[in-house]
Amino acid sequence: MLSPDTPISELQGIGPVRRAAFEKLGIFIAKDLIMHFPRGYQHRGDVKKLSEAQFEENSAFILTVGTIPRTETISRQKRMSLTKFNAFDESGKVSVVFFNRPYLSRDRIFEVGSRYRFYGKLTKYNNRLTLNSPIFEPYKEGIPLPEFVPIYPLTAGLKQKFTASCIEGVISSFERNPILYETIPEYIRRKAGICSFIEAARAIHFPKSYEDIEKGRRYFVFSELLSFALCIEAIKTDNRNFEHNVAVFKKTKQLADEFASSLSFTLTGAQKKAISNISADLSSGNRMDRLIYGDVGSGKTVCAVAAAYMAAKNGWQTAFLVPTEVLAAQHYSNIEPMLAKAGIKTALLTGSVKPSQKKIIYHGIEGGDIDVCIGTHALLSEGVGFKRLGLTITDEQHRFGVRQRSTLTQQTLHDISPHILVMSATPIPRTLALIIYGDLKSSAIDELPPGRQKVDTFVVNSGYHERLISFIKKLTAEGQQVYVICPAVGTLTDELSEEDLVGGDIIPFPESIDSPRDGLGELKSAVRYGQTLQEELPELKIGILHGKMSSAEKDRVMSSFASGETQVLVATTVIEVGIDVPNATLMIIENAERFGLSQLHQLRGRVGRGKLKSYCVLVSDTKSETAVRRLNIMKETNDGFKIAETDLNMRGPGEFLPRRDGSAMQHGISDFGLTLSTDTETLYLAMNLARELLAYDPKLEKPENKLLGKEIQHKLNSNIAALN
Ligand code: ADP
Ligand code: MG
Repeated sequence: MLSPDTPISELQGIGPVRRAAFEKLGIFIAKDLIMHFPRGYQHRGDVKKLSEAQFEENSAFILTVGTIPRTETISRQKRMSLTKFNAFDESGKVSVVFFNRPYLSRDRIFEVGSRYRFYGKLTKYNNRLTLNSPIFEPYKEGIPLPEFVPIYPLTAGLKQKFTASCIEGVISSFERNPILYETIPEYIRRKAGICSFIEAARAIHFPKSYEDIEKGRRYFVFSELLSFALCIEAIKTDNRNFEHNVAVFKKTKQLADEFASSLSFTLTGAQKKAISNISADLSSGNRMDRLIYGDVGSGKTVCAVAAAYMAAKNGWQTAFLVPTEVLAAQHYSNIEPMLAKAGIKTALLTGSVKPSQKKIIYHGIEGGDIDVCIGTHALLSEGVGFKRLGLTITDEQHRFGVRQRSTLTQQTLHDISPHILVMSATPIPRTLALIIYGDLKSSAIDELPPGRQKVDTFVVNSGYHERLISFIKKLTAEGQQVYVICPAVGTLTDELSEEDLVGGDIIPFPESIDSPRDGLGELKSAVRYGQTLQEELPELKIGILHGKMSSAEKDRVMSSFASGETQVLVATTVIEVGIDVPNATLMIIENAERFGLSQLHQLRGRVGRGKLKSYCVLVSDTKSETAVRRLNIMKETNDGFKIAETDLNMRGPGEFLPRRDGSAMQHGISDFGLTLSTDTETLYLAMNLARELLAYDPKLEKPENKLLGKEIQHKLNSNIAALN
């Protein structure tokens, strides 16, 4: 019998190659398979007559084969062939066409008179119906075919059918002894009105109805929110029980003024207020636990630097934690000179720093020569022991697991607990801020530095490409720079399996059921877009930036853009956080419907950072009304808080919750695209039940809560493990 922790290599049909492919998706053990949720479903049970089907939309048909399939070669050089036959139902007939699958006629797959369920797009050409490369399943009266077919996010080397059968295998095995796998105690499930784990697993992977999908979704959403709430409570308890001495800071107010007057600009009112909050916290004798949050470009960094300044002047070191290498490097180049003026030594420590150089930095940290160390999670790795750590700053906190705050606070050679400052660029709706950062006091930076202009925003379809090209030409001729953001990295096969591409539209999970997400086949990829753009604009220097490049390559591309040598930067969302190139005035976002509003807002915040008029163009061919409505909100407002609020209402809190680790491949809440305000209610419900649960069993050690306790512990630990 399988246990949730059984390695997938012990499952049937999973050899080293498929195991490696699954591992790429973050699937290591049996339970991971269950938690690998479909990104949508094909509703193949919704069978249409040929006469009633919509064109250009995926539909299911039950058809009888009318003619023998024939294969003709269309291009010998390119080895292209076409296999064709006629099929019919009582309402009409259709020509079924397959490209490059000659075996379909050779192996006599389709006998005249046999029946199949087909699933694909119907087109009409010269008054003739055609069904192009449909999916097909033999159809026999009385033998039911599945109503919904799950479509999984996959990677090269995996197929939909095989993946589904692995998941089905695990579910079937678990069903033999369901109680073993249930993490949520019965009475909590009753109060939350959710089904059991195993019912939910079957419902979400192999639904028989829309109600099933909702039932399954509800369980996993609640389960994720409950664990989340329990983790937060555990951390709060940890913090309360923290009995170290706190780093002592003196004369913070005077130091804050000193720092402010060393700047080349005047602080905004909101910045002054945040810095005065910080200086009061630091000299209060208690540990500071403060969140600074505010819109992109509101100037949070300088507030954090003020804190680092106060620390250094009190003889304390600061660890400045940043989610990406690119951002770390940029922070370093901004902050280093700001502090060097005052004799404060700043270092940069990331994964790509050479081992010899690393040693030197470690040495400086341990010896106390380095006052401020900026870095990615490499900063959290073992071997970094601060001599006198007095302050930790975490930028873009929502990217990190919550527990890391505690890790870093314990990572010091002395017995003193550092102060904690967290910055978030996601203007979080207040309710959510309370929940996520419930253990922190907060300062909102709700005022932009003077002279910022509104970024004019447009929503267009890909028919505007030519005009965009002219616009790029015009702006770059004036010496300005342009970003283009694409949702995918490279050639499509890099990230999507072939099957993903033939499947076409599916019923999407993240959006409402009546608004099919656009076909993955049309996803713009940064590499290809960059190459095409270079051909269209040979006179310009175009850079390409994505997460699969080495850090050194990324740095090279970024600094070339920052210096103005590269005029157009085609990138994936690696550039999302914090990048600051004031000369960039146009942000083009391809497949804009693929991004959350808050993410679009973050991306848009990359322009309009200087004095020049700036523009943001959202390119989307989406037909979904909801998606169009969402994009139009971007036109209406530049206020991040308002956008976040709308996003919360339209998509739920998924986007705002901390991710389990820094990687893109995570499962959990954010994959669900929690919808509508009902999920916000679920969030509150989960928070309440978590507290109730802990009041009665604080360590989750009663038999009925044991599994849940184990899961929470695992979550808290893996947040740390993922980073080491
Ligand atoms: P974010 O809040 O997005 O992290 P940053 O801290 O990167 O914003 O600040 C954005 C830009 O604004 C930086 O170039 C910074 O130097 C500048 N800036 C910050 N505060 C002020 C201010 N009070 N006046 C003018 N420019 C400022
Ligand atoms: Mg920032």
